Amino acid sequence: MSSRQSKMQVYGVEGYLPTIGIECHVQLKTDTKLFAPVAVGNFRADAANQHLTPLCLGLPGALPVINRKAVDLAICAGLALDCGIASVTSFDRKHYFYPDLPLGYQISQHYQPLVLAGEIIIPLPDGGQKAVGIHHAHLEADAGKLTHPKGRDYSLLDLNRVGVPLLEIVSQPDMHSPTEAQLYAKEIYLRMIYAGVCEGDLSAGHLRFDVNVSVSDREDVLGTRTEIKNLNSFRFIHQAVTYEIDRQIKLHRGGESVVQETRGWDEQGKSTFAQRSKEDAQDYRYMPDPDLPPLQITEAHVDSLKKSLNVSPPAVRDLLKGWRITASSIEIMLEEWSVLVPVIYENRQTLDGPRAVVLVNWLLGDLLAALKQSRLTQKDIVATWSELLVLAQAVLDDKVSATGGKKWLMEIVQDKKTVARLLQAAGGGQISDVATLQPLVDRVFDQHPGAVEDARVDSKAIGFLVGKVMQDSRGRANPSLVNDLIKRKLAGS
Ligand code: MN
Repeated sequence: MSSRQSKMQVYGVEGYLPTIGIECHVQLKTDTKLFAPVAVGNFRADAANQHLTPLCLGLPGALPVINRKAVDLAICAGLALDCGIASVTSFDRKHYFYPDLPLGYQISQHYQPLVLAGEIIIPLPDGGQKAVGIHHAHLEADAGKLTHPKGRDYSLLDLNRVGVPLLEIVSQPDMHSPTEAQLYAKEIYLRMIYAGVCEGDLSAGHLRFDVNVSVSDREDVLGTRTEIKNLNSFRFIHQAVTYEIDRQIKLHRGGESVVQETRGWDEQGKSTFAQRSKEDAQDYRYMPDPDLPPLQITEAHVDSLKKSLNVSPPAVRDLLKGWRITASSIEIMLEEWSVLVPVIYENRQTLDGPRAVVLVNWLLGDLLAALKQSRLTQKDIVATWSELLVLAQAVLDDKVSATGGKKWLMEIVQDKKTVARLLQAAGGGQISDVATLQPLVDRVFDQHPGAVEDARVDSKAIGFLVGKVMQDSRGRANPSLVNDLIKRKLAGS
């Protein structure tokens, strides 16, 4: 955005400026719950109400004890978001009644959150960048899960989720389009995955996005916002924000006002629907939890966690950009190869530009296709990484053609064959020495004088001669070298 353009000029929709802020709940990758020594378990596989303690049930006398691992993961998440970490942090009770919250309040952080303000920079598809402020992020315990079976007069309650550690990341209202909202959500996802703080299975609800949307016909005044709850796909975020902007503008146009409320997302209908009117912070009667002492976080502890962090997406982008990988390919690499990318980054010294480009092309092509069809896993690639380097080098050295090298990928990754053996089996691989190829070229010239004459007047006719040499070498000749030799012979040198 040029400084002379107003936000309205850049983002305006029919004279209205949309503004979007996002709260994201990240499920931290711990074995046990946030305040109780009981397994988090697997929500999809486990029977209901298996992982409970008196605290999860809100029984009298049960006391919470903080899970150190959850605090460390939250600090790592904060560092991955380029945010500050509080030196003192404390827990508060957020009061509300809900049948899946036996305590009657959620243990959260209101006054002294663990993760302080920061800013993340998001690459845009057009090559630009977008800065989004992080207001803060806080630790809190998840609630249980209610299901309402269709056509029945009862609801089912599963409390396995009660007390599972969440980090709620609250953005500033810095986004102004569905695309910016979607890209922000994806960036949060990537940062959490690379920091190793979250399993990152969106369909299992490991990251849930609450998206606040408002529109205003003035840049300096925010409109009334609505909150779309629990979106768990980047596509849904784009669709829901688009729908909500449109709905709110129609209300304004019709002289009606937007109601501050929580709305749900209807996947089938591709629309949002009213759920409940939205509380303000003061309604929750936040109070410090007397059962949990404040935590002191030392700088030394934060530093040691910082050192343990994997590479971050921005550092990966810088590295791959240096290898002249395109921006869109970099984003695919980050998303699809999140296990492998840190390995590539660690071994960046052993990779030079050309070899890296060959490898990345395989990863974005045949290997990605195989990964998506579950014919291989990222771990297979990690295990055979050094052999892939050898193969890339063989291609660059013309020991095997680019097409031939590609054909060997799966044999190396899946069948654990070595490049040396594959070259041997192929009869020594590609022929790239002039001494062997020149006689083949000479013979083709002798056998096809007509084609030689054609090639002299029309350079496109060279293909026939190249094809003949390739045939005579049973496909082993290096085609670009053959091409060169033919051109040189045609030029009479
Ligand atoms: Mn929350």
